[in-house]
Amino acid sequence: MTDTPSPHSAHTPPSGSPTPPGADPTREQMIRHLRRSGVIAERAVQFGHHPFGAILVAPDHETILIEQGNVDTVNHAESVLARTAAASFSEDYLWGCTLYTNVEPCCMCAGTVYWANIGRLVYGAEEKDLLAATGSHDENPTMSLPCRTVFDHSQKAVKVFGPFAELQKEIAQMQQAFWATR
Ligand SMILES: [Zn+2]
Repeated sequence: MTDTPSPHSAHTPPSGSPTPPGADPTREQMIRHLRRSGVIAERAVQFGHHPFGAILVAPDHETILIEQGNVDTVNHAESVLARTAAASFSEDYLWGCTLYTNVEPCCMCAGTVYWANIGRLVYGAEEKDLLAATGSHDENPTMSLPCRTVFDHSQKAVKVFGPFAELQKEIAQMQQAFWATR
């Protein structure tokens, strides 16, 4: 036997990769902040955008630093938030912060979270659930690529939490109600 990994084996960040500091948020904190990201998603709709919202929470797992709704097809809530965060805070500080988003980030957003050095990511519903609501809709031809796949091919152990069963129904209802009218 050899311990050389098969080229087809699952990827993970190399052992010894940096992990975010401190304790993880509690489940109560995660649900509460995810619900806030849902409020931001509803606000984005009121402004004429798609129903996606993200917030950035400080290392104390309580202080909301940034709130960002969807802008357009190439300016998703999480990507815009991560770029704003990278321009506003140090990499070291962001490694202790958590990004919350109502729907699992696409690979573009997961990549931007990674490059911004945000240490934790919490999402409500899975991308594949969004795909069920949008299909190949011209405005949102949703991809189907779990964000963990992106992080598993990286050099840092970003911690990912989601989906949350207690939120999936309300998130699915918001998405279905929105996309059915487009
Ligand atoms: Zn995205």
